[in-house]
Amino acid sequence: MGEETLRDRTYKEISNGDYLDNSQYMVVAVSLGVTHFLMEFFYIWIGCTPMIIINIFSFLSYVVSVFLISKRRHLMTVWIMEAEIFLHVIFASIFLGIKCGYHLWLFGTFSSIFLPFFIPNLSKRPKKQIGVYAITIVLGFEILVFLGKHGYLPTKYNVDENLAEILYYINAALGFISIMIYTSIYNQRMAMKNEEMTYVAEHDSLTGIFNRNKIQGILEAEILRKGDIKEGNLSVAILDVDHFKQINDTYGHLTGDSVLKSITECFKKYRDKGLIYGRWGGEEFLLISPETISYDEFGEMLEDLRMTVEALQLTSGGETIKASVSIGAAAYEEGLSMDKLVQRADERLYIAKESGRNKVIVG
Ligand code: GH3
Ligand code: MG
Ligand code: MG
Repeated sequence: MGEETLRDRTYKEISNGDYLDNSQYMVVAVSLGVTHFLMEFFYIWIGCTPMIIINIFSFLSYVVSVFLISKRRHLMTVWIMEAEIFLHVIFASIFLGIKCGYHLWLFGTFSSIFLPFFIPNLSKRPKKQIGVYAITIVLGFEILVFLGKHGYLPTKYNVDENLAEILYYINAALGFISIMIYTSIYNQRMAMKNEEMTYVAEHDSLTGIFNRNKIQGILEAEILRKGDIKEGNLSVAILDVDHFKQINDTYGHLTGDSVLKSITECFKKYRDKGLIYGRWGGEEFLLISPETISYDEFGEMLEDLRMTVEALQLTSGGETIKASVSIGAAAYEEGLSMDKLVQRADERLYIAKESGRNKVIVG
């Protein structure tokens, strides 16, 4: 494997791996920066010199993070923030004592670092880093608690018991809140990805209408439903663009594509009336009748559609393109399988083609 190129990185950044967007990273870095800025006054107030110094570095790490986020170096920023929190927790536990509850922050960092682990396409390297860091957090937590409980931490700045208790509650709350924030952002991101994937799986990328898989699923469900509830009408039609190869050969494939798009635009007129349609393949489309209309009315709707396509004003480089469609339709009859129903419509489409095209044949 060669070096990761800038293009690889950009692709990874916009496609997967990242579950926060740039502005969300910025919000996280700025809020943590502000928190450390305020903490500086607290450390000065309790007179803990080591933490006053360490906290300046913490604050500076968020200044650097903000700069890196503006350059979209998200992965680097995540590692800086994670390292900062981890080190700050260790030092605060050492200097202020385990009773202040700083170690509870590690639950938050653990969830934030561990969730991306489950993003499938994350490259191998971050996954290994995530694993190592997750284990480091767990061990760090256990060791801190063990040393703290047995009095092995060289805690010099014994914080007042009441103040320590308040700090403990604050740190516990912040730990819980960060887990909540991270999990909700992660779930939201995954839900968005799911939605995107479902959309892609069900739609045709050129025309934006249902693809074969989806329209087939709908038709299968409709046929099953007809077995249960006998109400409503069910008919299908196969529509095929006439002499489409010629359109491609004369005006080019791209013009062919836009002709296909214009024809699918014509279907939309009938969508409100309940027509369901999808791309069956190439320049063929499957139409499912609205259940509220009879087969005769469906025939009239198809005839209207045929005329709408015929009347389309299509041009390419100043030239007028004439487009037309042939349609074959069939009504569902009890016991008919989906394949048989579509085959019946297909046979009528063939008749429409044979008898001169630009026709609707319903039986
Ligand atoms: P007929 O009237 O008998 O249907 O003739 P036809 O030329 O439409 O039929 P044929 O099956 O010979 O050609 C269909 C053409 O449709 C061939 C194929 O290149 C083209 N085609 C299929 N899918 C697409 C597409 O997505 N975009 C473009 N531009 N052309 C496509
Ligand atoms: Mg065809
Ligand atoms: Mg054709």
